[in-house]
Amino acid sequence: MKRRGARRLLIQMPDGLKPHAVNISRELMERTGAEVYISAGPCYGGCDVATGQAKMLNVDLIVHYGHTEFVRVDDCPSIFLEARSESSLTEILNRSESKISIYRKVGVATTVQHLNELVKVEERLRRLGVEAVITPRCGRNRYCGQIIGCDYTPLKMVIDKVESFMVIGSRFHGLGASLAVDKPVILADPYMSKVTEMEGEKRSLINRRYAMIERAKGAKTFGIILGSKIGQYNHDTADMLRRTIVTRGRDAVTIVADEVSPSSLENFEGVDVFVNAACPRLSIDDSERFTKPLLLPKEALVSIGEMRWEELLDQGLI
Ligand code: SF4
Repeated sequence: MKRRGARRLLIQMPDGLKPHAVNISRELMERTGAEVYISAGPCYGGCDVATGQAKMLNVDLIVHYGHTEFVRVDDCPSIFLEARSESSLTEILNRSESKISIYRKVGVATTVQHLNELVKVEERLRRLGVEAVITPRCGRNRYCGQIIGCDYTPLKMVIDKVESFMVIGSRFHGLGASLAVDKPVILADPYMSKVTEMEGEKRSLINRRYAMIERAKGAKTFGIILGSKIGQYNHDTADMLRRTIVTRGRDAVTIVADEVSPSSLENFEGVDVFVNAACPRLSIDDSERFTKPLLLPKEALVSIGEMRWEELLDQGLI
């Protein structure tokens, strides 16, 4: 802040870090004399940078806590302060031994909080006689070994080199990984202290997604959700979907949304099916909460006959 001469600052952080927000804000004000604002927005990922609030408040700097930077923010100078967990992974690694030790080569990836532990994970697997293949840095992922919920390219890059994958993170990341690659995925979830082979959950989710696509096949009007968060603004995808759906003889409207929730969509009478071109988590983790089908873009293409179901499975849902 001092180097940049920032006098007005907006800090934003995910809910898990918000308990520290007041102290951080107080300390920054005391030490720099700057005006500090705290964003109450949910801040789910690096896709969500509070540029709208920053503009309204006329701040000279946004400080985004917790996530890695992967979007270009032109509207306002911003810095990303990544968070690393201080909890040890020893217990979850102990629990995963029996499931991992049956493989010789395992692709390993985790969310940003646990990246510092990857060296220990590698060493632990080596002692079990398992070679850990740390996934490469690519796509939206800034570090080797990192995955975020909307980009599993790093796993796909090493798929031919490994027999299975170990994902250290939440259920959503384990499920997303298992949908992206056609190899066994073992989720080591340090928050729930649980190790899960994701194949069963993947099969059950795929069955539910298939049923949702079937429901959407008779739809007349599709509501395409274009996320307005800077890293969810997939305009080209939304535009391609609208044009393709119309070419196939159906109606399509584009709905711009910052936060997508059942209540934000419930009043759109006349829309039979929503297509989520924003954050894939909504369709993977939350779609049961919505009364109408909430398809992912490729699923929408299957529902209108533009893509085959088998092709979708080959490419992965995300
Ligand atoms: S789009 Fe969704 S999955 Fe991707 S970073 Fe944002 S919140 Fe996470």
